[in-house]
Amino acid sequence: MPELPEVETTRRGIEPHVLGRTVVALEVHEPRLRWLVPETLAAQLVGQRVERAGRRAKYLLLELTRGTLLWHLGMSGSLRVLPADAPPGLHDHVDLVLDSGCLLRFNDPRRFGSLHYTTEDPSGHPLLADLGPEPFDKEFDADYLWRITRRRRVAIKVLLMNSHLVVGVGNIYANEALFRARVRPGRAASSLTRIEAQRLVRAIRAVLKVAIRAGGTTLRDYVGADGNPGYFRQKLYVYERKGKPCRVCRTALRAITQGQRSSYYCPTCQK
Ligand SMILES: [Zn+2]
Repeated sequence: MPELPEVETTRRGIEPHVLGRTVVALEVHEPRLRWLVPETLAAQLVGQRVERAGRRAKYLLLELTRGTLLWHLGMSGSLRVLPADAPPGLHDHVDLVLDSGCLLRFNDPRRFGSLHYTTEDPSGHPLLADLGPEPFDKEFDADYLWRITRRRRVAIKVLLMNSHLVVGVGNIYANEALFRARVRPGRAASSLTRIEAQRLVRAIRAVLKVAIRAGGTTLRDYVGADGNPGYFRQKLYVYERKGKPCRVCRTALRAITQGQRSSYYCPTCQK
């Protein structure tokens, strides 16, 4: 499933190919994505220039002349830049054809992705309005994390994965960040100390940064390439390593289930 680093990697990969280009056509081979792609969408987009390729949480935001296209990759989606005459294959559902002779192709086997268009400020769009800050925003600092954890008995890992409080901390990154910050995933959020909050903010940024950088290296020749998830290139300390020795202290790692997701930790390194 594409997480924040994969989406950011995709954004960086497509940016040089779409910026300043004009939409020539939107070819929808399969409109039944998570939400139906409206028939009117093509007519709305054609003739508009791509002014900016942004991202909010896991949404790619293509800012056009008069509006913004919100593109979500869903559970299994990917975007590729291809020559405009490349024939669509299985699961290639949408092509955004540009005046450069290239197209942006959306492939999504499970069809949980989505496309929305708005002429309003996208930050007020119902899909984005209730999201918490980005992990790299100034707003997401130790003070913020400390404040939002004060009255919450929910486990710290569950809190980190709540996108109303902070976006982009998927299961793998929550596990790895908690290890780096030396905090057990099952601890009550309210038990976090100020120092731990500080460590955790830094750890979250660090694991995401490594993943984005790793993803970025696979994008040198993004045209025609598959977007490899960044985390496969990252050395994982705890994620899916139950029973294996901790890379720091050699203690056998443990796993617990929280909110139907697996959490992994080192009983020695993490308090
Ligand atoms: Zn350890």
